[in-house]
Amino acid sequence: MRTLLFPLLAASACSDVSGIENKKSYGPAVAMIDLFTTCYLVKTDVGPILIDACWRAEELRVRLSENGVKPEDVGTVLFTHGHQDHVAGLPLLPNARIAALADEQEVLTTNVKGDATIDEVLTDGQTLRFGSTEVRVYAVPGHTAGSAAFLIDGALLLGDNALVTAKGALGPVPKDRSADPDLNVRSMVALADRLKAEGREVKWLAPAHSGGIEAGAALQTFADANR
Ligand SMILES: [Zn+2]
Repeated sequence: MRTLLFPLLAASACSDVSGIENKKSYGPAVAMIDLFTTCYLVKTDVGPILIDACWRAEELRVRLSENGVKPEDVGTVLFTHGHQDHVAGLPLLPNARIAALADEQEVLTTNVKGDATIDEVLTDGQTLRFGSTEVRVYAVPGHTAGSAAFLIDGALLLGDNALVTAKGALGPVPKDRSADPDLNVRSMVALADRLKAEGREVKWLAPAHSGGIEAGAALQTFADANR
């Protein structure tokens, strides 16, 4: 699949998508904006980790500085997926381990400058621990083959697996932006059902190309509307 340079630019600029707010916190996850893409910072007992690596290295440097973080202190980047606007800041982070699902290796190789070998191959359903911070890993294939979502202390980091609309609903990303849009939606429905079955409390939804929201019933409403 040919990788788009600006995968969700049009969607994010659209007025019916919830606006992104820099430095806004969704539980432990702090939004760091670069143009229309958000990556998230989580400060743990054992140092900062990132969910995705933003779009441009110099912009990422500024965003980290705003939050009192030095690039060399970032120990791990958990990748929701490997599109360019989510990985291009990676060269700024000399000590960051790449953590992603195995199925995302090809997309990462295409888009990361230099070595994009996954250091920590994640698996669906895995729990990672960074000090007292727990990260649950969920495979959500469709936007890309190895797309993931992460649940961290009640914040569900969604990457490009879904968007929040201006009306505060959860919606799918535009079909032409995903490798397999139908699978993307099926995966999101399955994720909603799974989180419910596991009894996981989801307090916030935090996508990469829209603002986030307090979760409320939005995830289940999305699932019920797309079965
Ligand atoms: Zn993407």
